[in-house]
Amino acid sequence: MDKVKILGIQVDIITMEEALRWIEDAIEEKKPRQIITGNPEMVMAAQKNEKFFQIMNQADLVVPDGIGLLLVARYFLGVDMPERVTGFDLSTRLFERALNKGYSIYLLGGALGVAEKAKKNLIRQYPGLKIVGTHHGYLNEENRSKVVSEIQNLRPDLLFVGMGAPRQEIFIATYKNQLKVPVSIGIGGSIDIWAG
Ligand code: UDP
Repeated sequence: MDKVKILGIQVDIITMEEALRWIEDAIEEKKPRQIITGNPEMVMAAQKNEKFFQIMNQADLVVPDGIGLLLVARYFLGVDMPERVTGFDLSTRLFERALNKGYSIYLLGGALGVAEKAKKNLIRQYPGLKIVGTHHGYLNEENRSKVVSEIQNLRPDLLFVGMGAPRQEIFIATYKNQLKVPVSIGIGGSIDIWAG
């Protein structure tokens, strides 16, 4: 996969279709992988946060979510990225694929009850969608280990984490190997949007 380096952060040059194919392959391979939906705010935050900088560069895929990344690539680096791949659009397309392929999903993030409401709305919109679990995103030591073991037991194919950046990326990087979920994606405020 070709990449463009923006302020030291490697961003994948990838289309929505390629990202979807990449995810399908990852689900088949089962090795845990982290996707970051990158935007300029995250690239700037990584300049001041060494841990986040490393997590961004160790992620398996960084898709260009923010339009600012495409503009910087084109006008400052002379690199044309084909299109934006937003976390919200990628998730929507993944729900369609999940229905066809039977992938199971876990939603983690948002205030108490929001992910459960999002689950209900999504199942209404995509009847048959396998959302096997949900949990709010306000984690302390105690409920964090409860969530980790619940996800381990449920073995979803896809984990959507909406706790805001960099919190969601740090969570995924920290627990990825323990959780053994093939594809984990940080999706910011998307769970709030699905909840309506
Ligand atoms: N959030 C969470 N846990 C926290 C802090 C925030 O689950 O400890 C949730 C918050 O409820 C919201 C989501 O993170 O649903 C996204 O927050 P924000 O809009 O700040 O993130 P962004 O989309 O800008 O990355």
